[in-house]
Amino acid sequence: MKSGCGWLRLVALLAASGVLLPGPSLAGESGPCGEGLELRLSSRQPAQGSLVVVEVVGASPLSALRAEASGQALHFWQDANPENRYRALLGVDLERQPGGLPLAVEAELAGGARPGCRALVSVQDGRFALERLELPRRFVELSARDLERAEREAQRLRELFARVSPERLWAGGFRLPVEDREAAGNFGRRRVLNNQPRSPHSGEDFPGPAGTPVVAAQRGRVVLAEELFFSGNTVVLDHGLGLYTFYGHLESIAVEPGRVVEAGTLLGRLGATGRVSGPHLHWAARLNRARVNPRDLVALLPD
Ligand SMILES: [Zn+2]
Repeated sequence: MKSGCGWLRLVALLAASGVLLPGPSLAGESGPCGEGLELRLSSRQPAQGSLVVVEVVGASPLSALRAEASGQALHFWQDANPENRYRALLGVDLERQPGGLPLAVEAELAGGARPGCRALVSVQDGRFALERLELPRRFVELSARDLERAEREAQRLRELFARVSPERLWAGGFRLPVEDREAAGNFGRRRVLNNQPRSPHSGEDFPGPAGTPVVAAQRGRVVLAEELFFSGNTVVLDHGLGLYTFYGHLESIAVEPGRVVEAGTLLGRLGATGRVSGPHLHWAARLNRARVNPRDLVALLPD
């Protein structure tokens, strides 16, 4: 790290009024790191469960770039245009405690210089609604067999989401998986069933008539396409660089594991399979295991 690029200086810059980034939706913050290198964040006060676009822009091509947020490596991709712009996504898990999230960036220039800088992202309370429900015990307490199955599947999904495919499969903007349907806005909702706290709602629901086409939000590889206990008929896409999207409660599945699908490819039909009260799509996103609002993909990575 270059000493002239201390983190106090950057924090002072970040505290000043934000600099607008080129491109839509990126009203962010920026700061110099020395040697013509600049660090830009789409937000330095992201709420729990949101995505942050981290941009590093160099005056010349970089021969190496490393960044870490809370000890976790960020995975950059390089844009053809503008030149020397590198971007990565940072996911703030929906249950991460509000407070400071340190970010460190280190680059290497062709000439051997190694500029770098640090920023402190301030995670805000997501202000998620709390839902208290009283249900007959049999709906809340699973049989030993169902519990065993649900736990096995949860473990499998955890392992799947922990894998980082090094190749970025997506290009361009993300789209919503169902056309002309409003999201329920229930991402992150905390649930208490019969006074027992349950996992918060990790996705966005799109209620709609059974049979409505559900399409891929972007290009990706099908890494799961089968029936699961909680989410019924489920498709998971691996978009690369640690990013996954999840489509649950489908009436039917139209793709097979291993296939690379394009943005807009039919994945299946909206349905009510799994543990649901009515037909809807449960759409979720994971970024390096963090549970983030999938709608941020559409807002932050437009065409
Ligand atoms: Zn849901």
